Amino acid sequence: MSQVTVEQFANAVGVPVDRLLTQLGAAGLSVTRADEAISDKEKLALLKHLRESHGEVTPTVALEPKKVTLKRKIVSELKQTGAPGKAKTVNVEVRSQRTYIKRSVVATEEMGRQEAQLADIQERDRQSIEALETLKRQKAVEEQQKQEALDKQAQQARLEAEQEARLKAAQTESIKVEQAAAGKAKAPADTTAAKAKAPVTPERPDAAAKKGGKHRDGKETKYGRQELHVAAEKLGHRKKKFTGKYSGSGGGVTAKHAFERPTAPIVREVAIPETITVAELAQKMSIKAAEVIKLMMKMGSMATINQVIDQATAAIVVEELGHTPKLLSESALEEELAQVDITGGGEKFTRAPVVTIMGHVDHGKTSLLDYIRRAKVAAGEAGGITQHIGAYHVQTEKGMISFLDTPGHEAFTAMRARGAKITDIVVLVVAADDGVMPQTIEAIQHARAAGVPLVVAVNKIDKPGIDPERVKQELVQHGVVPEEWGGDAIFANVSAKTGAGVDALLDSILVQAEVLELTAVRDGPASGVVIESSLDKGRGPVATILVKSGTLRKGDILLTGHEYGRVRAMLDEAGKSIDEAGPSIPVVVLGLSGTPNAGDVAIVVAEERKAREIALFRQGKFRDVKLARQQVTKIEDVFTQMEKGKANALNLVIKADVQGSAEALRDSLSRLSSDEVQVRVLGSGVGGINESDVNLAIASQAVLIGFNVRADAGARRLASESGVKLHYYSIIYDVIDEIKRSISGMLAPEIKEQIIGLAEVRDVFKSPKLGAIAGCLVVEGAVRRNNPIRVLRNNVVIFQGQLESLRRFKDDVNEVRAGTECGIGVKDYNDVRPGDQIEVFERIEIARTLS
Ligand code: GDP
Ligand code: MG
Repeated sequence: MSQVTVEQFANAVGVPVDRLLTQLGAAGLSVTRADEAISDKEKLALLKHLRESHGEVTPTVALEPKKVTLKRKIVSELKQTGAPGKAKTVNVEVRSQRTYIKRSVVATEEMGRQEAQLADIQERDRQSIEALETLKRQKAVEEQQKQEALDKQAQQARLEAEQEARLKAAQTESIKVEQAAAGKAKAPADTTAAKAKAPVTPERPDAAAKKGGKHRDGKETKYGRQELHVAAEKLGHRKKKFTGKYSGSGGGVTAKHAFERPTAPIVREVAIPETITVAELAQKMSIKAAEVIKLMMKMGSMATINQVIDQATAAIVVEELGHTPKLLSESALEEELAQVDITGGGEKFTRAPVVTIMGHVDHGKTSLLDYIRRAKVAAGEAGGITQHIGAYHVQTEKGMISFLDTPGHEAFTAMRARGAKITDIVVLVVAADDGVMPQTIEAIQHARAAGVPLVVAVNKIDKPGIDPERVKQELVQHGVVPEEWGGDAIFANVSAKTGAGVDALLDSILVQAEVLELTAVRDGPASGVVIESSLDKGRGPVATILVKSGTLRKGDILLTGHEYGRVRAMLDEAGKSIDEAGPSIPVVVLGLSGTPNAGDVAIVVAEERKAREIALFRQGKFRDVKLARQQVTKIEDVFTQMEKGKANALNLVIKADVQGSAEALRDSLSRLSSDEVQVRVLGSGVGGINESDVNLAIASQAVLIGFNVRADAGARRLASESGVKLHYYSIIYDVIDEIKRSISGMLAPEIKEQIIGLAEVRDVFKSPKLGAIAGCLVVEGAVRRNNPIRVLRNNVVIFQGQLESLRRFKDDVNEVRAGTECGIGVKDYNDVRPGDQIEVFERIEIARTLS
């Protein structure tokens, strides 16, 4: 085979035959015809000649970069020496192709390469022959084996006939089970598939129709089918597994049978709700959860078996595995609901304002609410027994006002964080004898963030020697400017104790309400918000609902959050039974299926069936998780959107260790505002980050910044539940720089601090040798000897430095893990006290990516 004609050689090296012949002649070789054979020796001689004449124009070298494609095709015949009469001839073809590119500038190299080519051709010739020979040998061996197998098979024929029957039965059984498991499998499996000698996955008609090409990327196997449950790169591997599995479960069938007929995929229609766990998803496809996890890992997300994944992700997984995802839409149901236009249509009437009372602790919020309720709620007739139902409304000569009876900004912001905006006006209670206090400022920030106007009630004016004017001045410093000083805040001096000025306060509220021009539709089905709910022993679930629009009537079918039911009875705040309630009226509703959450929207629907359907759908146990997840994306989006230049406002909530830092941050960050991006500091204060801060951040989609302060346990829990990220800093410049970068969309690798451990100081010992040693319990992560640390007191950073020593009993150690006690000596700091926390952190560089 190594003999090649001149013509073939010319074709192979891409030179015209004539020219090659000339060159051969010039090389002193006696080859003159195109069909003459050219030996290896002659090829080398030609090469030598060409190399010697280098510099002259030799076509193979002087051509511009040019491709040389070498193609080898060797055909030979194999005779099968099988059973007598069965002998047949098989053509064996060996093909090889390689492309080379030559460049004139690297002529010498080119020569080398040509030489290599020639050598290559020779080598490949040799290899081809060898390959052929090997093939021949293999064929022979295989033939022999086949023959043996055939003999065996003949012996087993009867045995197998029996097995077949058994298998058929088992197959039908397993199909049933599978269908039951999938719950959705529609078409009955084609049991004829079970006729195959080997156990195969039954093929359904629709599956057969699809296998032609519907599947992803046309990853067809040699059987012309698509593999199911297999990621693209894993086809081969999975196939083996499959076969093994089926032959294994087939019950004593020899493995070779599994090859005789390919398995056919079951294409399932997998119904995916808005959220689903990995385990459930796997179950719906009748595969192991591990397969789903593996696939997701390949898709770049780490999932656990119980992890809830969203619909979109689940759909990708389902498609990837060759099934058809069917997205169950909750919105379809909800949209149907929304078609019943609640607000539109009807004539709008002025409605009563809904008021929340906020202020610092002990400034008299509860007292004021109590006084107003006692004095104004028509409870007299009902025997003076008023009950706390979370809200009440009062009728004054000038109009009606509804009060939310849970004072404080926690409730207010928590509601807002849940998406319920029900408060129209905030009454800010400030005790005249105490003045503006931290929670007063928080309340202002919360009201402002919600865009709700303030009416200030300067309380406790009955007390001797107080100065209401001083309160005004203090409030001005926080941007609350009284009307008489050119601002828009209405002030009223009151005494929750004596009731002095309360009427004037109510008037002020109504004046403010008039400015707001609050209106609502009075007719039509009601919608409202749940204020609170409880389970009453005698009456079952009880919910207080503030009607926002329409009129709620006894007998209406109410859908609220996860619950629904026919309104069996309605009570007002005095405990009196009522038949209907219009806008801004709070009512107690009996008859719901359970206790809805505060902040849930309540709407009246026409059909009980529909209400139940939606309530049940919403009850999907992962709904809350999903809400939390939505929050995650929402909150994190703020920064990402900024970086992408999409958002045009950045809300910040800042907590700092000292007033000076808080102010400095507020000023310098606010100043970063430009025409394109507005930086709004919604709240800034001193002290650790608390739940209220987190709620404010959730409600306003704000970035939470802790400057030398940390979040307390409650805030951390809320933050992680709702996906709010806590941004800790210790250098003002870092804060400004990061915000600046996120605004300008510039992404630089950032050095992030990551807290790796937290220890609580239980006791402090004085050691003559080591100074103060803090006896600590590691409560989170691990404390490492060589990492930087901070000492926290009341969640505020009081020292930053390093560890002098880390000991477990009497031994120096490098690391102490959570749940373990240890002795910590802080370098250059001797004032560690019991109750302090020691935070261990590390600095890592994170390359930031867009997307
Ligand atoms: P809250 O924490 O804001 O709800 O405040 P409270 O309503 O519980 O009141 C705290 C304390 O201040 C209680 O002892 C009240 O009696 C007292 N207090 C509330 N309002 C007044 C007031 O107008 N005058 C006087 N002298 N004491 C009041
Ligand atoms: Mg109170």
